[in-house]
Amino acid sequence: MIYLDNAATTKIEDVSFNAMLPFLKEEYGNASAVYEIARRSKKAVFEARKQCASLIGAGTSEIFFTSGGTESDNWALCGAYESFRKKNTNSDKPGHIITTQVEHHAILHTAEYLETLGVSVTYLKPDKEGFISPEQVTGALREDTFLVSVMTANNEIGTIEPIREIADSVRANRKDVLIHTDAVQAFGQIDLSDNAKHVDLLSASSHKLGGPKGVGMLFVRDGVKFSPYIRGGMQESGRRAGTENVAGIAGFGAAAELAFAGLDAKISAEMALRDRMIAKLADITDVIINGPYSEGDYSKRLPGNISVCIKGIEGESALIMLDGQGICASSGSACASGAREPSHVLKAIGRSDDESKGSLRLTLSNRNTEEEIDKAAFVIADVVEKLRSRG
Ligand code: PLP
Repeated sequence: MIYLDNAATTKIEDVSFNAMLPFLKEEYGNASAVYEIARRSKKAVFEARKQCASLIGAGTSEIFFTSGGTESDNWALCGAYESFRKKNTNSDKPGHIITTQVEHHAILHTAEYLETLGVSVTYLKPDKEGFISPEQVTGALREDTFLVSVMTANNEIGTIEPIREIADSVRANRKDVLIHTDAVQAFGQIDLSDNAKHVDLLSASSHKLGGPKGVGMLFVRDGVKFSPYIRGGMQESGRRAGTENVAGIAGFGAAAELAFAGLDAKISAEMALRDRMIAKLADITDVIINGPYSEGDYSKRLPGNISVCIKGIEGESALIMLDGQGICASSGSACASGAREPSHVLKAIGRSDDESKGSLRLTLSNRNTEEEIDKAAFVIADVVEKLRSRG
């Protein structure tokens, strides 16, 4: 098997798996209890909090564990809305959010839900490479804007948004607007070491960086008044109730620590493989690269992301044929695949429905080898030829 779908999920790292094991068996104490076995669980959760915090330059009091990126995104939007409502109980201001057309559905569908509660939402249109500019965001601010949510990196086309600049320009205009970023695809993939200084809220997910599925976090900057989303017990300082998923959290922490320590090497390895694959795909006629691309550069595009539209093929048919040859890839985002609708991200950057139909996303990891890239590129070229000859 050649696994080229790391944006969908990643293989668990050994250190992460090993960090989880004790908490799935003998270390079963509830992290909220007072006796020794429970204290060991509590210590593991705290250790993981430190490991996750260091990736973004945050403090441990600012990290809240959740069930994954989707919950963190839901919490960010709904929590911001509730805080806004609490402050404006006697006002009929509906409230306003600024986000983008290229967000993950965890953001878009939550924004749509808030619209049903009366909130206005501005969905900013990106440029043809998927970028949102700070000026666009500040230009959309309204008197009742309470939240800006712009993703750090796009899950389909890999575009890295100028999130620090966006956050700083919003802050320069308005101190009372919360700034959230969905960093699920960027956390552990690129340097975010001072992002906690710029944004108020940041979502991340463990299974995108070699940790287990079903665990994530929301960074909430100290001092930000922010409503809980899951109500119940006093776990996570009373802000996110529910008995802690200690094993998952320990695995997430270990994966984060590994990613932090090996980030530069991981980036260089992935980028070299990405550039190798793109050079080979360029030999196929009528291939368009989606998102910004410049060889040897990862400042604007995730180092392991390749997204292309190939004329004259159906992406879904290509995926099935690639699967037949042991190659795991995706067309558009995993959550959107299976759906017949063309990708909302490709649409937003101006691809026609016809172009989007032939989209292919390959997301690499530093586990991939040059031989795998060469083999996959060869098989893709062959699949394209076969599909085109079918007409
Ligand atoms: N946000 C982005 C940008 C994603 O790519 C994903 C998952 O693909 C999510 C949110 C959802 O994260 P999770 O799978 O942890 O719920």
